[in-house]
Amino acid sequence: MTPFDYARPTDLAEALRMGAAAGAAYLGGGTNIVDLMRERLAQPSALVDVSTLPATIAETDGGGLMIGAAVRNTALAEHPVVRSRYPVLARAILAGASAQIRNMATVGGNVLQRTRCTYFYDAEGSSCNKRAPGQGCDAVGGFNRIHAVLGTSDACVATHPSDMCVALAALDAIVHIDGPLGQRTMPFGDLHRLPGDQPDRDTVLAPGDLIVAIELPPLRFGASSTYRKVRDRASYAFALISVAAAVEMDGDRIGDVRIAFGGVAPKPWRALTAEAALRGGPATAQAFRDAAAAEFADARVLRDNSFKPVLASRTLAAVLGTLTTGEAA
Ligand SMILES: Cc1cc2nc3c(=O)[nH]c(=O)nc-3n(C[C@H](O)[C@H](O)[C@H](O)COP(=O)(O)OP(=O)(O)OC[C@H]3O[C@@H](n4cnc5c(N)ncnc54)[C@H](O)[C@@H]3O)c2cc1C
Repeated sequence: MTPFDYARPTDLAEALRMGAAAGAAYLGGGTNIVDLMRERLAQPSALVDVSTLPATIAETDGGGLMIGAAVRNTALAEHPVVRSRYPVLARAILAGASAQIRNMATVGGNVLQRTRCTYFYDAEGSSCNKRAPGQGCDAVGGFNRIHAVLGTSDACVATHPSDMCVALAALDAIVHIDGPLGQRTMPFGDLHRLPGDQPDRDTVLAPGDLIVAIELPPLRFGASSTYRKVRDRASYAFALISVAAAVEMDGDRIGDVRIAFGGVAPKPWRALTAEAALRGGPATAQAFRDAAAAEFADARVLRDNSFKPVLASRTLAAVLGTLTTGEAA
């Protein structure tokens, strides 16, 4: 590991000042960035520890939640309001990593964790445009079973690894940011970038930007939501496919619906096309499959991952069937 400084700011202003220094990076629970530093995939000159900033979860006036970025994943999943009003978020968090990692991981760090593409991590033996821009992408012609099928480019087919972020995308979360450009908010869906020809940039954040909080707006039908993750092992594995969904019925029709997919794209994938196809229609297995087909119409499958649109369709049908009728469709 390359030598680096460690700094523990006592308040937000000090954190922002330290984080704005050239070469500095923020430290949450350290469960991702420390691994990246050990592999020399990240070489910050200083780590600014923001895990000790206030970690509060507060109800907002309209019935939503304001979640401090330093809140640990476990604390968020166990919070009674999250469990009752946003079960999709609690379930997504609990589907990720292990209890020990969730106890350390922070909300800010989870949102900004980097891809698990094996070629990205193989600095000695593989080409990767995300790690070294212009180098090429060995995943495109390599073993690409875990890779993305939506939103990819010729330069990068890596997926975004977070479970929690899939739920945040479905819930229309709002990101509160502070940094050299000042305080601002942005829709969660705008935070992560698609790779295009610049896959080394995962997000639209500027150097020194600190995620201060994530806000969950109220969602009338949030209690009718869930998360399902399909993976190679029953635990401690990243998603091949995951679905976060919330549904409100209007008689025997779908009144409103939120859907996001994980494991299919370089960012948590909000499925607006599928939502539009379902709204106002019947809650049938055929309707769920048609909605998935519409969402994945532009999928670009690779040699080893052509199963993903099919698995995504089946997982969506199972989730929506459970939410609408109590039985997987
Ligand atoms: C073995 C293993 C299995 C895992 N399995 C899963 C899984 O199945 N599903 C899943 O979703 N995740 C999984 N993870 C990933 C885990 O969820 C992340 O490592 C964790 O959420 C990162 O949070 P952290 O606070 O430790 O981030 P850190 O490692 O501290 O930071 C990650 C990044 O965020 C930046 N950062 C941190 N806080 C802020 C902030 N407030 N503002 C701006 N930048 C910030 C850091 O500079 C760094 O770039 C796994 C990890 C491991 C090691």
